Amino acid sequence: MAILPIRIWGDPVLTKRAEAVDRITAEERKLIKDMIETMESADGAGLAAPQVGVSKRIFVFRRGEKTHAIINPRIVKREGGLKVGQEGCLSIPGVQAAVPRHVRVVVTGRDARGKAVEYECEDGDEQGRAATCVQHEIDHLDGVMYLDRAEVESISWLMEGEDEDGEEIIILDPTDVEAIKAAYKARRLPRGIHVPDVLRERIEGRKS
Ligand code: ZN
Repeated sequence: MAILPIRIWGDPVLTKRAEAVDRITAEERKLIKDMIETMESADGAGLAAPQVGVSKRIFVFRRGEKTHAIINPRIVKREGGLKVGQEGCLSIPGVQAAVPRHVRVVVTGRDARGKAVEYECEDGDEQGRAATCVQHEIDHLDGVMYLDRAEVESISWLMEGEDEDGEEIIILDPTDVEAIKAAYKARRLPRGIHVPDVLRERIEGRKS
């Protein structure tokens, strides 16, 4: 297994529609294993194939204690109305925003062996943010970034700070999509932003 480099916002693979998978081969199975390892190493809740540079309709996600992979996913049921919750994205590290999502969805597709699967996903104590995650990842397959759906006034940089006792805390610093885009384009994130080192290297050290 291998940890794959995560593509960062601005990379064209993230904003194009990914292609359906006709045949599931050893290549897809290896990709899924690597995607799971990559997601776990970055402590993410989900990861879509375009985020590792592969424009195929595949994503992996956490649902409670379990990790699943879905090929050619489709949401067949949306329930529970929309609820606004905070989201982040491994391809836009250091940023957080509030996005309305359906509380409960049913997603179908195929697993790594080609077997038809169906998962009921619900945001809540048991499954974490599984429903939100599925909607976020399927958006990736359609070339849609969560900031496109975010409530404008909620978009914030995550800044590292300290409270009165000197304990490290994360402070939300309101910003807007254009400022974030500009920072990523210039490959310079604001000083003091909360980004894992491995991703900071990807952003500030990447070659053009
Ligand atoms: Zn994402």
